[in-house]
Amino acid sequence: MTTRYLSLGVLGIVLAAPSLAAETDPLVPQAARAYPADLLARIREAADDIPGLAPTAVHFVTVAESRRPRRVVLDVADETPYVQARTAFQIAYDGTTLMVDAGMDEAVHRGFSTGAPEPYFPERNAEVQRALAAASLIVVTHEHGDHVAGVVRSAQRAEIASHTLLTRAQVETLTLAPQSPAIRLTPETAADYIVIDYSLFLPIAPGVVLLKAPGHTPGHQMVYVRLSDATELLLSGDVTWALEGIVGRTQRPTTTSERIREDREALALQIDWLAESIETSDLIVVPSHDSVYLAELVRRGVINEGLVED
Ligand SMILES: [Zn+2]
Repeated sequence: MTTRYLSLGVLGIVLAAPSLAAETDPLVPQAARAYPADLLARIREAADDIPGLAPTAVHFVTVAESRRPRRVVLDVADETPYVQARTAFQIAYDGTTLMVDAGMDEAVHRGFSTGAPEPYFPERNAEVQRALAAASLIVVTHEHGDHVAGVVRSAQRAEIASHTLLTRAQVETLTLAPQSPAIRLTPETAADYIVIDYSLFLPIAPGVVLLKAPGHTPGHQMVYVRLSDATELLLSGDVTWALEGIVGRTQRPTTTSERIREDREALALQIDWLAESIETSDLIVVPSHDSVYLAELVRRGVINEGLVED
């Protein structure tokens, strides 16, 4: 396997991307595998692989909210409403930024509604669009509309795509079996993105490492971030929708998993590793949609609400 180096950043964000295998076989399911016992140590080492100043802060914005009974979010018999924040994250460096997830336009958001219209904040999505255009690099945790629509449905799509990394699995889903027709990529539009593949983890910028986590979707990944003050975060995407699901090792109910067509065996292994990491280290695991925990992290000064402009 050859490695090519792309210099994407004004401040030295350098990407080591394995070249794509010539053959792809998107329909063969991957067997669920447990992470190696030394994974966190290896990710920490990899976070030093790309030279440059560590990121200084993590920001996020909530572009929309969805209200679901808790029994849909966690495998519990509880009708209490649960507010899911639909978020995008921004990793800030001195002078540049890296985006994790891309928000969505209102039409995609409406597609997620199960009943009455749910809150959507167009000015915040516009903020995300500005941040996507300005970022040195963009990654998405996975290929669902609430995470990826902002890079596939945008008036500035081609410009944004030129500095967006999609994994091969994400592109395969988006071209062959997208969550909705609204976010489908064609082979032609897919060629506008930087398409990568990697086996387990991949450093993409100083202090930032992607961790492969297929299960919720085939192209799901998590994003490890170590800040300049040594704070370690893991943006865990949608492995669970709530932190409680990780700490209590409780995944979504079977009916929700069947609707999403996710791999519960893979998710169980990921949840175990995340729970152990929380129990045995200072790693702060941040699910994309846990509005209550996100607010707590803001109060504690760990993350910041609202995106920064370069
Ligand atoms: Zn999601």
